[in-house]
Order: sequence, then structure tokens, then C-alpha cells
Amino acid sequence: MGLSRILPRSQPRAEPPAGDPAPEPDAPVGNGHLHAVPASASPPAPEAQLMARVIAFANQKGGVAKTTTTLNLGVALKEMGNRVLLIDLDPQGNLTMSQGMNPDAIERSMFDVLVHRVPISDIIHTVEVDIAVASIDLAGAELALSALIGRERALEKALVEVRDRYDFVLIDTPPSLGLLTINAFVAAGSVIVPVQCEYLSLRGLVQLENTLAMVRENLNPKVHVEGIVPTMYDRRTLHAREAIEILEEHFGDLVYDTRIRKTVRYAEAPVKGSSVLRYEPSGPAAQAYRDLAKEVLDGAKAREHA
Ligand code: ADP
Ligand code: MG
Repeated sequence: MGLSRILPRSQPRAEPPAGDPAPEPDAPVGNGHLHAVPASASPPAPEAQLMARVIAFANQKGGVAKTTTTLNLGVALKEMGNRVLLIDLDPQGNLTMSQGMNPDAIERSMFDVLVHRVPISDIIHTVEVDIAVASIDLAGAELALSALIGRERALEKALVEVRDRYDFVLIDTPPSLGLLTINAFVAAGSVIVPVQCEYLSLRGLVQLENTLAMVRENLNPKVHVEGIVPTMYDRRTLHAREAIEILEEHFGDLVYDTRIRKTVRYAEAPVKGSSVLRYEPSGPAAQAYRDLAKEVLDGAKAREHA
């Protein structure tokens, strides 16, 4: 059986959740109904302003540019006039660090939000965008959560407080499919999967889709893969071009047209506590994430208008 059948293209980016009713006032966060539109577009319908579009960035493989994509896509969406919240759900705290903060020195973080029900607004810091920070003790969150009833819904509940203040909530997840990532899948309307063009792991993507299928069945029927971002692309190598071909063969429309090229700029910027959009605003690395942001916005519009 081909992978395309294991990973059905039942919910390509441009396909609408047909006949979506208006959300209930107590509907879960990130149910995928509502999407932001660019600032330049005509004003969204009143109900479209009610809730953020919640997107999880996931791939259980480390080093595929989850964190880089969460930050730079978030900053690009903000540049276009959207209200953006980033959530650092990785105990390594790379997203928090990439905005110039030290996870070891942070007193209260997503750990307190998930485990002690501290309001998420208490731990949001505003740097280039708003960011709900991670600290080192987030590493203990999976264990602490596992004993709680509703352990998979802790993040979804925490987001209720802020879901009407943002157009986009982007969640950076750890390199595993554990309870923190499950919390992201339950809170999210969709998932964007960064995939490194070099070490393409289709098996890893099958595992990820299996986990998502379980979440759909038991916890969040809406959540789906919204798009796949090819990262660290080096067009000079045959290997990278082949990796893209394989991705497109199996996932078709789900693969974004934007290729995030390999460049040291993405590693340099976080050392300065900065996105590439601030680090080198007119460079190609920044432009790549602006292009991706447009595709993400277009996907939302295609759904709204279909
Ligand atoms: P993940 O969150 O999936 O573990 P990161 O976003 O932390 O991945 O990226 C892993 C490393 O690769 C980081 O050092 C980052 O700066 C670097 N990186 C990310 N995107 C690119 C790219 N397009 N080209 C080159 N290096 C990149
Ligand atoms: Mg990361």
C-alpha cells in the first residue's frame, strides 16, 4: 500500500471543512473554523474575529526547523498585520531562547500553565511577537500531567483565555509524540510539518499521521495536517531535489511551494535573540518566511471562500 493511501489526502490545504457551522461559544480552541485574513484584505466577517487560528508545528524528529519555522512564520504573519502568539512547548526552550530569553532564569512558564493552571497571560512575554515561554521545568510536565484528569486538554483549556486576542496561535512542539505534543494536537485546528530535505523520513511522517488519527478519533476530530514545509533545501544537490519530488509524489498539494533554503542566517539570528526578519530584513531568508506566510494565509482564505 502506497504512503499516499496511508496518509490520505482527505484534507488538503485548500479544501474547506464543508458546511462548518458557526462555532459554539464554548467550542474548543483551534477547531479550525476561523482564520485570519491579511490586514490589506477586506475586514473579516464578525465571527471570524472571535478566535485565533491555532497551528501546531510538529515532527518528532529533532533539527528539522520546527522552532525556526514557528518563530519566523510568526514574525512574518505579524508583519502582515496579524496578532500573533507563539507558544514554546519544548522543554529545551529553544523558541524562548531565540527571542533572547534564558529558560533557566524564567520563573513561571508553560509548566505552571499546564500543571498549576496559572493563566497563560501571566507568562506571555512580548518581544518581536508575544511568546508564552518555556523553562527548564517543562521537562517534568509530561510526568506531572500524566496523573491529572484531562491531561490531554490542559493546553486547550489554557488557550480559552486568550483565543479572542489573537489571529494566530503558533505552537512549537518537542521532538517527540508525547503528552506535550498531544496537548498541542488537541488545542490546534491544524498541524504544519517542517521536513528537512536532507534526511527525509517518510516513516516518521506515517507515525505522526497515526498519532494525529488517534487524536482525531478520541480528542479533536478537526485536527489535520494543513501543510508540509520543505526546510534546509539545497537546490544544488540532487538529493534535496529528489527529496522534494518524493514529498510531492506522496503528499501532493499539502507540500507548500515555498522552499526554505539552507543558509547559516537561520542559525545566526537566534544567537542575537532575533528572527531572521529582524536580523536581515531584506535578505532571502526573511523573504522565504514571508512567502510561506502568504501561502498559509491563502490556504485559510481558500477554506473561507470555498
Ligand atoms: P527543531 O526545532 O525541529 O529541532 P530548529 O528550528 O531548532 O529545529 O533547527 C535546527 C538547527 O538548524 C538550528 O541550529 C537552526 O538554526 C538551523 N536551521 C533551521 N533552519 C535552517 C535552514 N533553513 N538552513 C540552515 N540551518 C537551519
Ligand atoms: Mg525545536
